[in-house]
Amino acid sequence: MSSMNVPYPQPALHVAGQWLHQASGGERAVMNPATGEVLAMLPLAGPAEIAAAAEAAGRGFQVWRRQSAQQRYAVVRKAAELLRERTRQIATVLTLEQGKPLSESLREVGLCADILDFQAEEAKRLYGRLVPPRVEGILSQSVLRQPIGPVAAFTPWNFPANLPSRKLGSALAAGCSVVIKPAEETPATCMLIVQAFLDAGVPPEAVNMVCGDPAQVSSQLIAHPAIRKASLTGSVAVGKLLGQLCAERVKRFTGELGGHAPVIVCPDADVGFALKSSLAAKFRNAGQVCASPIRFYVHRSHHADWAARFSAAAQALRLGPGLDGNTQMGPLSHARRLDDMDRFVDDARDQGSRILCGGHRIEGPGYFYAPTVIADAPDTALVQQQEPFGPIAVLQPYDELDEAIARANALPYGLGAYAFTRDLHTAHRLGEEIEAGMVGINHFGVSQPEMPFGGWKESGIGQEMGAEGLLHYTEIKTVTVGVPG
Ligand code: NAD
Repeated sequence: MSSMNVPYPQPALHVAGQWLHQASGGERAVMNPATGEVLAMLPLAGPAEIAAAAEAAGRGFQVWRRQSAQQRYAVVRKAAELLRERTRQIATVLTLEQGKPLSESLREVGLCADILDFQAEEAKRLYGRLVPPRVEGILSQSVLRQPIGPVAAFTPWNFPANLPSRKLGSALAAGCSVVIKPAEETPATCMLIVQAFLDAGVPPEAVNMVCGDPAQVSSQLIAHPAIRKASLTGSVAVGKLLGQLCAERVKRFTGELGGHAPVIVCPDADVGFALKSSLAAKFRNAGQVCASPIRFYVHRSHHADWAARFSAAAQALRLGPGLDGNTQMGPLSHARRLDDMDRFVDDARDQGSRILCGGHRIEGPGYFYAPTVIADAPDTALVQQQEPFGPIAVLQPYDELDEAIARANALPYGLGAYAFTRDLHTAHRLGEEIEAGMVGINHFGVSQPEMPFGGWKESGIGQEMGAEGLLHYTEIKTVTVGVPG
């Protein structure tokens, strides 16, 4: 299917109940990363629209917070149904602006609907507690959970449907209103998600969407008195920045930040199975996944075999536009990512690493980079320390499990971590000793609607999804009622 036959919506901002096709911050082009062509022009919010969005979220909150848990449940469930009905349309737009294969986009939108189902149900379970009074004359002591208020939400471009859905779903299910700022590279998918919530019955002022200059939008929104919390999915650097802006005003902050996931392949692992799953996990979304496996610590008894088979399979992957049914890996999402990949590979090469496959851009249109496997990169190499966020895997042999665990834990990141073993004792030990928010033993599927997802160390604060996800959108209040007179 040619991208030219697929309708790409005219990007717009949603401010105070209106879709704005023009705004005071100018405009910027949204690109198709598979071709390098302009898809559409995105209007950018200036200070006036940013303030209007925050104020609308304040008014929208007063309407939405008064809806019962059952009513919020029904609206968020309805949004899930609408996403299911619109899956193909949303997935196509997602692939056009982000680049991943359509099959991945279809799965992503399907997962969004499942996440909303779960969050809708959890809206009914924001229970409080009744605590027995300790003195006479007190009739009741209640612990309540109430919605925190209007939330400023920031999402990156790598999962343009999933990440906005998680934030909108949990905030709205908990009774909060939202101003969301998706990545300027992928605005149209977020528009379609916002539209599904509006069509499902969320009050128009309770969900706002702005794009603009990211630093300006985040500083203005977080400083605005109406906004009570910021929630970011993004890099560690931007997480620290937004965390500081929140700290200055003692506003609540949740950060789902970067990772540098290790994979430990134990001597007793089923190597064929581990290789097949690792290949799919590594090159999914061209490696632009926060919990993507990066550092492979492979037991020395398997290392040479693993290096040969993993790089041969990586090299054989079919690259192409995401809308082409044969494509296994799409382009990187924007041109800047290509420069980043070159920087990681050049540095590794300069430090004496072996590039087993890839390590270069693909000639032609679009932002394609060859799947890359690097061996013998020293600990001082950039790729061993910073998140490449692209199709690069690093292989290292190890001898003792202690050493592999220590290396896995050595970085300031702690998001996803994985291991392959058939030994129950080793599986439990790894689950216990690895410092990460999510540990997957013998599989990579750590992101599930029912399970909390979040990072340790610099990889984040708080969780999304699971029962815990909603709690971060609530404040606790105690109410005690005494005998009158
Ligand atoms: P980024 O941090 O550059 O941007 C994330 C969002 O923050 C964007 O909407 C961006 O515009 C916005 N932003 C707000 N204030 C900003 C400011 N002052 N300066 C720059 N941006 C500002 O991240 P990215 O490059 O778009 O996305 C990749 C990062 O996101 C990776 O580090 C990845 O690991 C992380 N990520 C984390 C998770 C998770 O759940 N932990 C999931 C996906 C991606």
